[in-house]
Amino acid sequence: MNDLLPEQSATWQYLERAVADLLSRYSYREIRFPILESTELFKRAVGEVTDIVEKEMYSFEDRNGDSLSLRPEGTAGCVRACTQNGLLHNQTQRLWYSGPMFRHERPQKGRLRQFHQVGVEAFGLLGPDIDAELLLITARLWKNLKIDHAVKLQINSLGTSADRATYRAALVDYLMQRHDQLDEDSQRRLTSNPMRILDSKNEATQALLKDAPKLADFIDQESRDHFQHICAVLDKAGIAYQINQRLVRGLDYYSKTVFEWVTDSLGAQGTVCAGGRYDGLVEQLGGKPCPGVGFAMGVERLVLLLDELGVVPDSIGQQLDLYLLAVGNVEQQALVLAENLRTDCANIRLEVHCGGGSFKSQIKKADKSGAAIALILGEDEASSGTIGVKYLREDIQQQAVAQSDLSELLNKKFNNAL
Ligand code: ATP
Ligand code: MG
Repeated sequence: MNDLLPEQSATWQYLERAVADLLSRYSYREIRFPILESTELFKRAVGEVTDIVEKEMYSFEDRNGDSLSLRPEGTAGCVRACTQNGLLHNQTQRLWYSGPMFRHERPQKGRLRQFHQVGVEAFGLLGPDIDAELLLITARLWKNLKIDHAVKLQINSLGTSADRATYRAALVDYLMQRHDQLDEDSQRRLTSNPMRILDSKNEATQALLKDAPKLADFIDQESRDHFQHICAVLDKAGIAYQINQRLVRGLDYYSKTVFEWVTDSLGAQGTVCAGGRYDGLVEQLGGKPCPGVGFAMGVERLVLLLDELGVVPDSIGQQLDLYLLAVGNVEQQALVLAENLRTDCANIRLEVHCGGGSFKSQIKKADKSGAAIALILGEDEASSGTIGVKYLREDIQQQAVAQSDLSELLNKKFNNAL
């Protein structure tokens, strides 16, 4: 569980703002729901035999003896919140959320125990147009962030849950006959969650799978049409994609569409965004049947990618404009003067020196702060109503300016540039 230090937070804010702005342009609205939910909710939503529920949840009993869990993902809580608040009654909803998720995994690059996701969910829409819209949103986000050259879209269709049950039986049948050649993990999954064997990293297992039954041969016509429609939109919009028949995702609730955006630039944990359709989930969690589709982006992995590719604009670095020195017994005047400047000059960033000290020590701090200009208020200036304006990064002579003229001068200097 990482701390986010001030030097990194500008990149996070840059990313979070880009996402929030974009989603609002597509008419998605933010929803917030608790980080703790009943353990039962995740068992029912994510699935009893998934990695998440079997071994990754932070669960505990509260004082009432109820079992609660830190949320390992957002969709379950989002569905619970929407159902409980009547947001899904004969309505469509386009929603997003962001925040921490918790999974007790083996920590490594791109895999943390507290990580952050931005999730997007659309409810009440059965057709493939909304699946396609979600893909268009993500594609535009990558473009806006200038990482589109580094991520690739993989999509697949899982068909209906009935299709998957038939397929699962055929797959198990095929693999049972080759049981001894499977890796240990896959042998275990053969009885618990056989479709996860498809994305096994083991080479021998992958070789075995070459001649295994293909999911695509088992899915129904409606799912096929749904999938074709999405592909057609992507083709028309000029978004490249790869159909990956091995893509099954680690959560049980998906049906029909699943997709991942993957990068080669981050090593083994290359999936920066993943999602799909989950038409059965709302009903499964006790709501009236309501289709849903969504995705979640991994914020840490996106931040790593932005850093790796060096695409974060320098201008987000919270550059300080002014550092106001208060030398001598002028601390009260300094704070009030700074307030007046903040009222008059909306766009400037100004730090007031607090804590006293000599001129020499204060000007050192001013220089270190990165500010363009040091404003010097000493006792002489305070009594004559002036202030010293010292340019720290430009070869301009220090000036004494009337305090009443200062706002205008600063607005001229900084607002034009902003
Ligand atoms: P992966 O195969 O990478 O483990 P997943 O299938 O477990 O992913 P989802 O549950 O679909 O992932 O979560 C969506 C996204 O959230 C992932 O693509 C990834 O970017 C991010 N993510 C998931 N687990 C972690 C983690 N432990 N640490 C950091 N980011 C994560
Ligand atoms: Mg995982």
